[in-house]
Amino acid sequence: MTIRIDTGKCDGCGSCVPACPFGLLEVIADKARVEEGCTLCGACEAVCPSSAISSEEIVQAAPASDEHRGVWVFAEQHGGRVKAVSYELLSKGRELADALGTELGAVCFGHNVADTDQLIACGADRVYLVDTPELADNQDELYARQLAELIERHKPEMVIAGATALGRSFFPRVAAMLKTGLTADCTGLDIDIENRLLLQTRPTFGGNVMATIVCQARRPQMATVRPRVFKKSLSNGRQGQIIKVDFERERITSRTKLLGFVEALGEKVKLEDADIIVSGGRGLGKPENFKLLEELAGALGAAVGSSRVPVDEGWIPYAHQVGQTGKTVCPKLYIACGISGAVQHLAGMQTSDVIVAINNDPSAPIFEVATYGIIGDLFQVVPVMIDKLKRE
Ligand SMILES: Cc1cc2nc3c(=O)[nH]c(=O)nc-3n(C[C@H](O)[C@H](O)[C@H](O)COP(=O)(O)OP(=O)(O)OC[C@H]3O[C@@H](n4cnc5c(N)ncnc54)[C@H](O)[C@@H]3O)c2cc1C
Ligand code: SF4
Ligand code: SF4
Repeated sequence: MTIRIDTGKCDGCGSCVPACPFGLLEVIADKARVEEGCTLCGACEAVCPSSAISSEEIVQAAPASDEHRGVWVFAEQHGGRVKAVSYELLSKGRELADALGTELGAVCFGHNVADTDQLIACGADRVYLVDTPELADNQDELYARQLAELIERHKPEMVIAGATALGRSFFPRVAAMLKTGLTADCTGLDIDIENRLLLQTRPTFGGNVMATIVCQARRPQMATVRPRVFKKSLSNGRQGQIIKVDFERERITSRTKLLGFVEALGEKVKLEDADIIVSGGRGLGKPENFKLLEELAGALGAAVGSSRVPVDEGWIPYAHQVGQTGKTVCPKLYIACGISGAVQHLAGMQTSDVIVAINNDPSAPIFEVATYGIIGDLFQVVPVMIDKLKRE
């Protein structure tokens, strides 16, 4: 796919050339030309003074249909228990559905799923439940086919899922089957009520820019969202409907077979679930100094996190990394020790309720997001904290 350049209108002014973020445009013999790789971003179209560039034909090829209504959340489960991210998404989904004046649906696949009532308590008006041994464990192909079929049948306008290992893997298949757009790994969702558009925000260009993406021409609009970005809200008196959907095993088949499920060995640290996290960065200086943070974490009942530098240096395993390419966390208390506060680190922890930063550089960016900042040497500050906590 590419944009169209009307050579009758193009006068070779060259304004479009620097506008292309991918350097795909050049002017040869007074006419603009585009090379392979165009993403249809529209940047060149916006700057052309002669209206010679158009991407309209392609963008409007498949207009969004008004028959799509409703917001859906894919409620992921493991071992019959609904995952926390599903409840977080339902609370956001409720907000989106209320803003649009529509219903919120939850879709759950599994076997003997225990918590379907909780899906209603957390905001769902309807729960579409496919309860069958075939879907007990996460299986990309079966899940994708089943979800695509339900979406085609009920036509929601938005469908969101957690950016978990499963969500990242099977949701793009669903989007491809339905020939619609998907924004992966969002850190924020909002709504353009007038145009019924889901505003999907995620970091881009190495986390230095936050991009808000819309899917104008296709339905449903699909997004995966990182765990712990939204907070769960519960209302026990809510009423809703559980709709049991039969699994049509003759039609919904898979080319792959799940042989077994093995828990990841490196994933002992449940950072995502911790209420308190003590994290260390390059300021720790060497791997042995993580012992100091472990001691502080022990005194607080906290988990130990890390910026990327100690992980890259091999001081601590990847499972501890917080940030854009690590885990997104939202504890009640996050203590950052010797971490500068690079945007990629902040992307994973800045929604924490209380942030305490310990850093000897008063101009470190971490202080801009910190609730409490301690300017000082962590090797002096942390032992005092440990001592005080132990005494009290
Ligand atoms: C695509 C991409 C993805 C990335 N993903 C991540 C990610 O997921 N997570 C992440 O963390 N980073 C990530 N990064 C790296 C990020 O850009 C930073 O390089 C990294 O976060 C810096 O780690 P740091 O704060 O530990 O180190 P530095 O930036 O070097 O900061 C060390 C800090 O320690 C302070 N300090 C030093 N000694 C002491 C002391 N004795 N007492 C108190 N303070 C002290 C210094 O003043 C300094 O502020 C990513 C980068 C890219 C390009
Ligand atoms: S639409 Fe975007 S990617 Fe394509 S040529 Fe224009 S600026 Fe480049
Ligand atoms: S900005 Fe428009 S008129 Fe100028 S070179 Fe590009 S396509 Fe041609």
